[in-house]
Amino acid sequence: MGKAFVLSRFRFYECMCGETKAFSTMGVPLCVTCDECRSTLALGPEEYQVPEPHDWESHVDQTTGEAYYFCTKCLRRSAFAWREGQA
Ligand SMILES: [Zn+2]
Ligand SMILES: [Zn+2]
Repeated sequence: MGKAFVLSRFRFYECMCGETKAFSTMGVPLCVTCDECRSTLALGPEEYQVPEPHDWESHVDQTTGEAYYFCTKCLRRSAFAWREGQA
C-alpha cells in the first residue's frame, strides 16, 4: 500500500450528535459545523475542535450579476457573509 492509496481513501467524519456527516479525503474545514449541535465534523470523539468562522470572499455571479459570498475553506456559497452563532 503506497502513499497514493492513503491519499485517495475517503474517511468518514461526523458531528457530536450524528446529524451531520461527511466523507472526505482531506479532512473537513473547521468552519463546517452541525446545524443541530454546532460541533465540528471529526473522525472520532477525541478529535472535535473549536469551530472557526467562515473565510468569506465576495464575488459577483457572472450569469445573474448578483453579488454573493464564497467561503474559501469549505467552498460554501451564501448570499451574505455570516459567522457560526449568528442568526
Ligand atoms: Zn450534530
Ligand atoms: Zn466555510
